[in-house]
Order: sequence, then C-alpha cells, then structure tokens
Amino acid sequence: MQKIQMTDLKAQYQSIKKEINAATRRVFNECAFVLGKQVAALEEAVSRYHGVKYAVGVASGTDALVLALCAQGIGSGDEVITTPFTFIATAEAISRVGARPVFCDIGQDYNIDAEKIESRVTSKTKAILPVHLYGLPCDMDKIMAVAAKHKLKVIEDCAQSFGAEYKGRKTGSIGNCGCLSFFPAKNLGCYGDGGMIITNEEDTAKKLLMLRNHGASSKYHYSLHGSNSRLDTLQAAILNVKLKYINKWVTRRNNNAKMYNRLLGKSQNIVVPEVPDGIKHSFNYYTIRIKKDRDILRNKLAENNVPSAVYYPLSLHLQPVYKELNYKLGDFPVAEQMQQEVLSLAMYPELKPAQIKKIAKVLLQ
Ligand SMILES: *Cc1c(COP(=O)(O)O)cnc(C)c1O
Repeated sequence: MQKIQMTDLKAQYQSIKKEINAATRRVFNECAFVLGKQVAALEEAVSRYHGVKYAVGVASGTDALVLALCAQGIGSGDEVITTPFTFIATAEAISRVGARPVFCDIGQDYNIDAEKIESRVTSKTKAILPVHLYGLPCDMDKIMAVAAKHKLKVIEDCAQSFGAEYKGRKTGSIGNCGCLSFFPAKNLGCYGDGGMIITNEEDTAKKLLMLRNHGASSKYHYSLHGSNSRLDTLQAAILNVKLKYINKWVTRRNNNAKMYNRLLGKSQNIVVPEVPDGIKHSFNYYTIRIKKDRDILRNKLAENNVPSAVYYPLSLHLQPVYKELNYKLGDFPVAEQMQQEVLSLAMYPELKPAQIKKIAKVLLQ
C-alpha cells in the first residue's frame, strides 16, 4: 500500500493531466497572463455554480476576505464578530481593514455558536464573519436573523466549504458576500494562490472589480484605494478544468467520511462528525474528536505511518498577535476544549477504502 498522505495532489493531477496541460499551454500561447478571458469564464461558471449574480476572482482567499470587508464599507473603528476557532486569515482580514475582530465561542460542531452571537453585538458591530469550518455549513438561518435584527452585514468564509450546501443553497450565496479560496489543498484548489468573492449585490461586485485592480474605474482613473489582487489567468485556466469535477470529488469526500464514521463511530473515545438533515458537508477536512489522550494517539498514528493534523491547536484569542485584544484563557471554553481534542485524518477524493481501514485500525487498536 502506498504511503498515506493528508491530501494527495499528485494523484489528482495524474487523473486530469492531459486536460490541465492543454489548458495551461493555451494560456502560454495566448500570453494574456493577467485578466485573460479564462478569468471571466471562471467567474461566470463559479457564479452559476453558486446560483449568484456576480463573482470576482482575486489573488487569494485571504484577499477575498479583505476585499469583501472593504467593499461592505468595514474599516477603522468597526467591530466584526467571528469565530476564534479558524485559520488565522479569517481574523487577519478583519485586522487588515483596520477593524477589530470580536470573537464568539463555537458549538459542538466546531462552527460559531449562532445562539451566542447576539451577546457580542455592540454599537460598533458592523458585520458577522462566519466560517464554514472543515466544510460544514454554519447555522445560517440564525446568523441571518441576528444580522437582520441588528442591521449587520454577513460575510461568509467559504475557504473550506466549496461544494457545501445549507438547506439547498450553496455556502457563500446566503450572506452579502461569500469568500472562496483556491489554495491547492482546498476542495477546489489551483496550482498556486487564488480566491474569489461571490455576491448578489451589483454595487458590491462593481467595487470589488475596482478594488482588485488598484481601485481603477477605468484605465488610469482611480476611484477607490485598491490594490493589486487579481486572479492569474493561468490559475483560472486550471480551475476551469477542475470545476467540472468538483461535484464528483465532493461526493467521494462524503463517501470517505461515511466509511470513517462507520468504522470509528464505535469507539467510546472518538466523536465522529455528524451531518445534520438539510446540510451537505464538503469535507475539506475529516475531523474527529478524541476525548482522552489525543496526543498519545497522534504519536501512535505517526509510528504507524498514518498522518494526522490538528486544525487548530491554539484558538485565535490566545495567539500572541491578538494580545492587544486582551482576551484570556477561559474566555471561549468550547474553542479551548476543541483545540485539545480535535484530530484531522487523511481526506481527499482519491483516498482508498483500504487506506481508510488501515487508519481506523491503528486508531482503534
Ligand atoms: C485557507 C483559508 C483561508 C485563506 O485562504 P488563502 O487562499 O490561503 O489565502 C481563509 N479562511 C480559512 C478558514 C481557510 O481555511
């Protein structure tokens, strides 16, 4: 059996090599490397996929968050409510626009606890930034209701949830903006960095088109403080090929998760991820909870050549960079518990049943 990896980008490339090579060769021949026609084609395809009106390709998922916050008018002096249990980019984007991340504890499903959001609202709150962590959609009905009550914007971090659905709607299509990442290890990954913002708001889409291109309203005329944050034509060409396979790949991820759940669900020490009714998970990561002695088990896995990872070992409110926000240990007990207990296992569409069986066997022995 070949060595198991957390994710296997080589296996995926091998399966679509001919198409990818042809698509990239076309870009080399055309030489329209910045904002070539493949970018607009991808924006059209991704907006259609999500059932939204607009999509704007940008340089990364992090930039998608930053530009979405800018386009929604969020900046200095504003507060944005988000989860402390996420990748740093979520909170970093809020800080980057000059606003303040206000953390809110998570629930047993690792996502922001929608019931607790309202208690974090102040007169300065301008937006809620939920993260569909690991690919599981947040409780969007409750989040949208709090947002409507307090007139807040909702910016969805969909970096891990490409292909996920909440009550029949794709994640990212429910709030004011959805932010996608095409980092290679995400569900729809390119061969470098890339990102996209989706929205139904014409005004927001127009602003985003300017913001990603130095704030230009027309050539050499600038209306906004923008930046250079365009999605490469080469990356768009690769993504146009890969988008055709995304539903198949997400289905395989779900099948892998079902098999893991069946094998690991028996253990008293392991909590497997539940997918509630009406929800489609996209399983960018397959994450379980080890109630006791996670790190001992992790070592045992490593000794048996079984990879694992902890997303994330230190919640953002406890990170040195956020000392300035004066949070302390004990502020978000669920996030602090989960950082000790979560464990992510190998997950990718090409993962084989025999490999899942081996991983489960080592975990259960
Ligand atoms: C990957 C990720 C991002 C950032 O995306 P990049 O494309 O790497 O900049 C943001 N939020 C979350 C939750 C992520 O997992």
